[in-house]
Amino acid sequence: MPLLEEMGYMASKKYARQPEILEHARSIGQKLDLYSKTLFQTEVLDLDWINDSSCWSVRTSRGDTIRAQFVVSAIGLLHKLHLPGIQGIEIFKGYSFHSSRWDYDYTGGDFNGNLFKLSDKKVGIIGTGASCVQILPHLSTSAKHVYIFQRTPSAVDGQKNPSTDPNFAKGPASKPGWQTRRMANFDSIVSGSQEEKDMVADGWTEVYTKTPPFQPSKDTAEGAAIAKHMQLADFKKMEEIRARTDAIVKDPKTAGKKGPGEEKALGEKTLGEKTLGEEKPWGKEGPGGRRTMAENLQCRLMRLLS
Ligand SMILES: Cc1cc2nc3c(=O)[nH]c(=O)nc-3n(C[C@H](O)[C@H](O)[C@H](O)COP(=O)(O)OP(=O)(O)OC[C@H]3O[C@@H](n4cnc5c(N)ncnc54)[C@H](O)[C@@H]3O)c2cc1C
Repeated sequence: MPLLEEMGYMASKKYARQPEILEHARSIGQKLDLYSKTLFQTEVLDLDWINDSSCWSVRTSRGDTIRAQFVVSAIGLLHKLHLPGIQGIEIFKGYSFHSSRWDYDYTGGDFNGNLFKLSDKKVGIIGTGASCVQILPHLSTSAKHVYIFQRTPSAVDGQKNPSTDPNFAKGPASKPGWQTRRMANFDSIVSGSQEEKDMVADGWTEVYTKTPPFQPSKDTAEGAAIAKHMQLADFKKMEEIRARTDAIVKDPKTAGKKGPGEEKALGEKTLGEKTLGEEKPWGKEGPGGRRTMAENLQCRLMRLLS
């Protein structure tokens, strides 16, 4: 959660849940007086640089044209939902909706689950990414039967979401700048650098902290060595995830078989409260043409070095 220090607030858990995040966002809006300054429901259509007056002209979907000396673009990458172009979906006779437009009127319940209106329904869920991992535990306890349609297996690790230690606010979080330092520490660790202390200590950072420290070698280009180091960390984490699945999913047919070259803990890992009971955590298919974080870094480094 952002601006904890500025707001004098401490999250109740390592991964705060939706109502707490929403409440925090509203508090930020009130404290910083953002409500009166924000143009809600307004899309920016065009940005034009006006040379003569050295400013931007911003045209909006409300018909306004606003001039601004500075424009900060924070439009994200993933804000538009993607409806699956599955052949025949338009003639599907059952009720369907996208997970980002959850229809509680149809399912009953709330963010805590208890989707009681599904108790007599067979439900199919398409995709086994981060959203499915969070939805499935609730579906599986509420619906009559659940079918999971999986194209590409995800690496699902345990979420481990402890409550915030009350001593944290008095200890590590009592010194000014603590959250900025913590964020920098996280970024540094997940970029493959060494830090004396892992301030976040979660499923992402442990991928690196459990791998022996990176030692640059005189013989190897440093970039390639870092990429190799990250790939090893990735592989080790994937082995842990496979072992976890072996321990939970008893039916070997459901668990599937290990396939080589499928290290992807860093690129596609999700942290779920539970493992998908009926998922196939790995298969012959690779990560669908997407690169792991280690591979991305390797490519970037190779470009820089070439
Ligand atoms: C399904 C899913 C699950 C995820 N799960 C997690 C998770 O568990 N943990 C995690 O850390 N991250 C998660 N992420 C990633 C996380 O949501 C993003 O990294 C984060 O929201 C990016 O923040 P942002 O401010 O850059 O962009 P966004 O949150 O996307 O915000 C961009 C905003 O800009 C607005 N906008 C876009 N174009 C215009 C325009 N022309 N005019 C005006 N406004 C515009 C959009 O409406 C939106 O409000 C998930 C993402 C998805 C899609």
